[in-house]
Amino acid sequence: TRSLADADPDLFGIVDHELKRQQDQIELIASENIVSRAVLEAQGSVLTNKYAEGYPGRRYYGGCEVVDQAETLAIERAKQLFGCQFANVQPHSGSQANQAVFMATMVPGDTFMGMNLDHGGHLTHGKSVNQSGKWFRPVAYGVRAQDHTIDYDQAEEVALAEKPKVIIAGATAYSRVIDFARFREIADKVGAVLMADIAHYAGLVAAGVYPNPFPHAHIVTTTTHKTLRGPRGAMILTNDKKLAKKIDSAVFPGLQGGPLMHAIAAKAVAFGEALRPEFKDYAKAVVENARAFADALQSNGFKIVSGGTDSHLMLVDLTPKGVSGADAEIALERAGITTNKNNIPNDPLPPMQTSGLRVGTPAGTTRGFGPEEFRQIARWMAEVLDGLARGEDNSAVEAKVRGEVLALTRRFPIYS
Ligand code: PLP
Repeated sequence: TRSLADADPDLFGIVDHELKRQQDQIELIASENIVSRAVLEAQGSVLTNKYAEGYPGRRYYGGCEVVDQAETLAIERAKQLFGCQFANVQPHSGSQANQAVFMATMVPGDTFMGMNLDHGGHLTHGKSVNQSGKWFRPVAYGVRAQDHTIDYDQAEEVALAEKPKVIIAGATAYSRVIDFARFREIADKVGAVLMADIAHYAGLVAAGVYPNPFPHAHIVTTTTHKTLRGPRGAMILTNDKKLAKKIDSAVFPGLQGGPLMHAIAAKAVAFGEALRPEFKDYAKAVVENARAFADALQSNGFKIVSGGTDSHLMLVDLTPKGVSGADAEIALERAGITTNKNNIPNDPLPPMQTSGLRVGTPAGTTRGFGPEEFRQIARWMAEVLDGLARGEDNSAVEAKVRGEVLALTRRFPIYS
């Protein structure tokens, strides 16, 4: 019954420190967000005590009648949000959701097609060091050199030549609309299962400001903690009863044991929030802010991969500034602006250096930033990185921006 502060001052101090970090910096990492107190409360609830292997109504443990209600609520809300008939809300993470789909649809050695990781695909879409790349045979489609949008003709050529069993439409660093209908056409030509990984876009899809992969995709996977603004975790959606059964078996007992019932409860809360009209306004603002941010970054001398964005994120090409993504990330962090270095398509620099940064508006929009604030952030980024490029001592510039960032974050408090 002792509070965390009482029972473990060391860890309490760490949590408090992280809270202050989040309150006082500008979060531009495109895959992060700021969850509500209600989500935090559910995540920190007594549901963490419960073992519930199995699914609602058919568990391997007694005493599951209450957590069954939580999971059923999460499932029903997920189905309503994405307009589908089946949802498995148990995957602990996006990677495990994708693994479960692989397990449900392929055997080791089978070929699948995903987006080239250097063009925006995720680790679980076939990276050589990931299980997807070690146990399966990945082939890739990519973006066109001239406009950095997905080359669907090339995707079709690769699919016809390689006959993948699964095609993944989805990415971790692609700002444009994905043509799910076109991917389904390609999948149908080779008899492949089309899996859409909408980890990044889920909140935008739920709000109707980014295309829904249904009815085109056979299976949809998504994380719950990015634009969807829920707890860390994931889910798998489908309309196909046979696939649904295979997916359930792949998640449990295929890959996981007991589901994280507290996380599932928090998912239910977040899905409930996403069903409310205010969430539509939020998602619309996320995209409007991203457009304003992309324009402002371009006016401040940055290049944006593909020339803009249709979503919450964008890839900033730092080549015109003459600084690497790694150096930019560190300098911006000193100034109170958190980003992540990211390769741009056909990047001459390696992944630990990079020529780009990935930035996004979901977290800033949650704390109330509008286009004006994002235009200001673009100016600060230019100030810091132009200073860095000059190669002289940049600490005064960084400190000045840090002060201004702090003033802005105080005007838009979180968890206060
Ligand atoms: N799929 C995509 C497209 C992602 O961007 C991510 C996360 O970055 C994942 C899957 C994996 O999610 P997690 O980090 O929860 O394993």
